[in-house]
Amino acid sequence: MVKQGEISKKEKDDIRTLVKFVGIYCRENHNGERGPFTFKFFDIREIEKKEISLCAGCSRLLTYGLTMRLKCPHDPKPMCKKCDRQCYHGEYKAKIREVMKFSGMHMIKHGRIDLLYHYFA
Ligand SMILES: [Zn+2]
Repeated sequence: MVKQGEISKKEKDDIRTLVKFVGIYCRENHNGERGPFTFKFFDIREIEKKEISLCAGCSRLLTYGLTMRLKCPHDPKPMCKKCDRQCYHGEYKAKIREVMKFSGMHMIKHGRIDLLYHYFA
């Protein structure tokens, strides 16, 4: 269990970015049923300041991504593609790439380059 206070500012920034990217992707691509996203290690609303709504598949992906981020043994965390650990495997790896690409383009089109994620670029 990770306590809120133990999450560094950098981790929070990364968490916020991950949440945003998956959120945009789900909203723009999935029309199915969505529910509020919750994460067992900390209260996501503390960080994002609002409710995040995701479909079941995207919830799984985001849970995986957040867990991996918190478990990252490197400090500072390197860019994922330069890392020797490669947390994301198979299905998740393909999916998160798709999410980053889609949401990255979406942000560029909407002028939110400040939010661009460098991990998978
Ligand atoms: Zn979705």
